[in-house]
Amino acid sequence: MKQRPFLLSAEGVNKSFDGFKAIRDLNFHLEDGELRTVIGPNGAGKTTFLDLITGRTQPDSGRIEFEGLHNLGTLSEHAIYRLGIGRKFQTPTVYADHTVFENLVLSLSGSRGVFAALFFKLKSEQKDRIHEILETINLSTHAQRKAGTLAHGQKQWLEIGMLLAQEAKLLLIDEPAAGMTDEETARTGELLLSLAGKHTIMVIEHDMVFVRQISKGRKVSVLHQGSLLCEGPVDQVQSDERVIEVYLGRKHAR
Ligand code: ADP
Ligand code: MG
Repeated sequence: MKQRPFLLSAEGVNKSFDGFKAIRDLNFHLEDGELRTVIGPNGAGKTTFLDLITGRTQPDSGRIEFEGLHNLGTLSEHAIYRLGIGRKFQTPTVYADHTVFENLVLSLSGSRGVFAALFFKLKSEQKDRIHEILETINLSTHAQRKAGTLAHGQKQWLEIGMLLAQEAKLLLIDEPAAGMTDEETARTGELLLSLAGKHTIMVIEHDMVFVRQISKGRKVSVLHQGSLLCEGPVDQVQSDERVIEVYLGRKHAR
């Protein structure tokens, strides 16, 4: 039987900062179309792993491959972006003075300059695509609002929409539920579930209610001290003694 190729694979990755091992012998594999949640206590190396994938920093050793072809450790941030790897940071980074619609246009246009993109006449299929994204992210009725006036949760959805407009093959999303109300968190979960299968998504999250919502029937990975501690269905992971010990006494352990 033919094995499904991994969209992303990390093998034996190490990364130190001033002698401190933030990532150690990390092995991690993600299949095309997966929605994977990565959990782990503060300082486990989750954000550093995203920095390594996106070329913000380079591994000291080991290999991170995309589509079984590209060695991400050797590519620039921009080259990695162009391969189709999009990242959403924890704090929203939308263009506050532009409308929601314009923010999506700017992402759609990729490398074209900001002004050129806004004065460029959109093709009808591009407009259709933006309207489709607006529906997906639940912001159709806010299309003409300045992005800076959106609620925190809406800004986060817009940013996910921008990754969709960018046609990212791999979406990396760091702690989307941080600072959200319970209702916004639940809606974010629904949004990610609606994208599952059509996109490959890696979500880093602390909020276990949210993790349970998006990982039903899916694999959850636990990072600890820069390595993969364990991986499996959410119930199994949550009852794993090593995981409980790692989280012991921490408020996110519930
Ligand atoms: P997490 O996202 O799981 O909370 P991080 O990846 O942010 O963890 O951090 C892992 C460890 O690496 C932390 O101890 C952090 O202080 C350290 N670290 C991360 N980035 C840098 C950096 N650029 N310089 C020095 N230390 C860093
Ligand atoms: Mg982090």
